[in-house]
Amino acid sequence: MALIVQKYGGTSVGSIELIHKVAEKVKTFYDRGDQLVIVVSAMSGQTNRLLKLAHEMGEHPSRRETDVLVSTGEQVTASLLAMALHHRHCPAYSFCGWQIPISTDGTHSKARIDNIATEALMDKLSQGRVCVVAGFQGIAEDSSITTLGRGGSDTTAVALAAALQADECQIYTDVDGVYTADPRIVSEARRMQLITFEEMLELASLGSKVLQIRSVEFAGKYRVPLRVLAAHGNPDCAGTLITYINDKPMEKPIVSGIAGSNNEAKLSILHVPDVSGIAAAILTPIAAENIEVDMIIQNISEDNTTNFTFTVQKTDAPHAKAILEQVAPQIGAKKVLCDTEIAKISAVGIGMKSHSGVASSMFKALAGENINIQMITTSEIRISVVVAEKYYELAIRTLHRAFALDQPGAI
Ligand code: ADP
Ligand code: ASP
Ligand code: MG
Repeated sequence: MALIVQKYGGTSVGSIELIHKVAEKVKTFYDRGDQLVIVVSAMSGQTNRLLKLAHEMGEHPSRRETDVLVSTGEQVTASLLAMALHHRHCPAYSFCGWQIPISTDGTHSKARIDNIATEALMDKLSQGRVCVVAGFQGIAEDSSITTLGRGGSDTTAVALAAALQADECQIYTDVDGVYTADPRIVSEARRMQLITFEEMLELASLGSKVLQIRSVEFAGKYRVPLRVLAAHGNPDCAGTLITYINDKPMEKPIVSGIAGSNNEAKLSILHVPDVSGIAAAILTPIAAENIEVDMIIQNISEDNTTNFTFTVQKTDAPHAKAILEQVAPQIGAKKVLCDTEIAKISAVGIGMKSHSGVASSMFKALAGENINIQMITTSEIRISVVVAEKYYELAIRTLHRAFALDQPGAI
């Protein structure tokens, strides 16, 4: 008998038939004698529909009330799945985040989990019940409902698995594991049986939305045994296991996966006087507005002026541009530019630690397709470039081929 946390994503519970199929699957684990906590997302499209409704009420809807609204999507699925399980004589019991409670800070729409009480869940589990938990939601200190950011049900599941010290956290989705690239973009992408936690963290942060980044951070911190599997695929497929032991990195492929994101925008402030304190003067007001900055480059000084460029999430770009336009005259800069038509493409691999030449192979492959590189950043296990958004898919496919990730034996 094992204690297993399973999470089913939006497309996996996207209709009444699919919720019944999930119930059928959960029942097979229940019949085996496992203790089960099942986390569900809203039915596919529902969160977007609810967000659209909020925006139809007028500009800048209250973030607190938006959380009250969007959290209902998961509540619907949790109750329906509990009913589908009852129908199969499986004693299920649904929970909203606040009923557990899953306590978070008060940052509406991207709250962080502070604590999870386990008593209520353990009590039902000890009675032989299956706990069905609405993902993506929590409760703040002032009793307001909060949500954990898009894709946040992954984090609910991993955090519950950590709190309950579950034997495994299984993320069921519409693909049967983590691939060498998004299989919707690269048809030759291959499923990895294993991926190191470090690589998964990079892939998730660089745009592979198969796992929400915070869920991977949680898994790493608490060493949660984590697996990604297909909800409605071959039940014998073991999916992808996230492993915490970086054993034999020398034998790992140099590049394990390619990630892409077209959700960022590039802001530049031109002809800034090249004196100390300029980067702080530009980025402090951006940080004060809780805008996360990703890549940063400052050009070499010419005539004692320089250009300063950075990227932010596309949704934050208008706000960031307005801030820069205020800052520019104060620091004697001449012009502010904002380009929303960019994409960030990254190659990730633990094997890069011990190999050189990855960057040059990457740049050569992109040049071969006449794709101009606008920005570059690196870490020990990844290289990211910014290119024009029109090359988003082409650049991902090009790099996937350049690093032979489509070849058997590559992973
Ligand atoms: P869910 O609704 O189950 O949470 P998501 O849509 O959030 O599912 O995540 C699954 C999707 O992630 C897949 O359909 C796939 O298109 C995308 N994806 C992006 N990168 C990868 C990758 N490297 N491996 C697998 N899937 C990926
Ligand atoms: N329903 C939420 C979303 O669409 C959370 C999730 O699916 O994980 O982002
Ligand atoms: Mg998801």
